Amino acid sequence: MQFENKLDFAQGLDRSDPLRKYRDAFYFPKVNEKEVIYFTGNSLGLQPKHTQKYIDEVMTDWKELAVEGHFHAEKPWWDYHERLAAPLAKVVGAKTEEVTVMNTLTVNLHLLMVSFYRPTEKRYKILCEEKAFPSDQYMFQSQVRFHGLSPEEAIVEIKKRPGEHYWRTEDVLAKINEIGEELALVLIGGVNYYNGQVFDIPTITKEGRAVGANVGWDLAHAVGNIELKLHDWDVDFAAWCSYKYMNSGPGNASGVFVNQKYLNRKDIPRFEGWWGTKKETRFLMKPEFEPMENADAWQISNAPVLSMAPYLASLELFDEVGMKALVEKRDRLVAYLEFVLKEIDKEVESTFEVITPKDRGCQLSVFLHGQGRPIFEYLMQHGVITDWREPNVIRLAPAPFYCSYEDMYHFGQILKKGILELA
Ligand SMILES: *Cc1c(COP(=O)(O)O)cnc(C)c1O
Repeated sequence: MQFENKLDFAQGLDRSDPLRKYRDAFYFPKVNEKEVIYFTGNSLGLQPKHTQKYIDEVMTDWKELAVEGHFHAEKPWWDYHERLAAPLAKVVGAKTEEVTVMNTLTVNLHLLMVSFYRPTEKRYKILCEEKAFPSDQYMFQSQVRFHGLSPEEAIVEIKKRPGEHYWRTEDVLAKINEIGEELALVLIGGVNYYNGQVFDIPTITKEGRAVGANVGWDLAHAVGNIELKLHDWDVDFAAWCSYKYMNSGPGNASGVFVNQKYLNRKDIPRFEGWWGTKKETRFLMKPEFEPMENADAWQISNAPVLSMAPYLASLELFDEVGMKALVEKRDRLVAYLEFVLKEIDKEVESTFEVITPKDRGCQLSVFLHGQGRPIFEYLMQHGVITDWREPNVIRLAPAPFYCSYEDMYHFGQILKKGILELA
């Protein structure tokens, strides 16, 4: 399709957008009494309007039933988390039994590393991307030290080539083979938080497994953004947060995938608690741990129902729309945003550069060669919510659920005005 950087053209795209009605299902913050153009769904997704109802329901049950709510609420609390597994499994391409929701992301990755990072004298190295999300770096370092190893020796980073802004799959595969028999675990962010790159999850997973390593993925920026087939790709394990593209609210519960082949196995160690035991006998309070037969075996504590409720509300929307429709709109919306950026770049002879490679989801990371921070601040003051990453990058992630083509057009006009005013 031939795009045009014109208001009526953008409005035309919105009119033919099958997801357009969902914009109205979310609350938008306001700046100068106008709804913002929201580009930070990759950081904290907007609040769906029906989420309040799900929380109120729990609050009312607590008020009226108190402890009886565990078993007699309309959605009983004791197995509330189980309601999330089936719709979430569809989002990540898994079997329902492979998915559970618990804790928060870094905590879950630590727990999964207990099961899937078991260094031996010979096989002890972890492969990750350079400049991984800081929480992941701290996690690797502390895990390695916990096993009595040194981070310098045990953690190997895949580098980008000099002058390039993204990782090449061939370099990842080469590194896997170079480490070979010493490689215990590959654990990479499926979509990079900084440049928006989508890693080739199936190819990397296959190669890692071929040299005998376990392969896990941090899907914080991938879930609800790209199509995933965790089961078919034979991923060993994965975890993700729910507050980015999944719109479940600040700091909310994390999802976990454990490949079916690891369920019901006695040889896989795990940190355990009572919510991982068979539900039929959980309240007999026996001293023996009998694991659930699904990924719930990794559950430890009783479910934080107040944070499960917004996740359930969000999943209802994902279930209704499906990843296929979201991905279709995403691709066109991001292509239009890129087009608008290029048009503005021509008009103002500015010098910004999209550093996101072709393998991408929602996010375009833009490197501002000239004025950086002042342009970011201008955008924020004029109702465009983006985020700033050192040294000179703004990240633009238009979530297909609630962002419109008209937003992209207006963003371009505000950006152009800002560049001209600040010049
Ligand atoms: C957002 C994000 C996190 C956040 O971790 P929490 O434990 O939820 O605070 C971790 N890893 C990556 C790659 C992220 O993008």
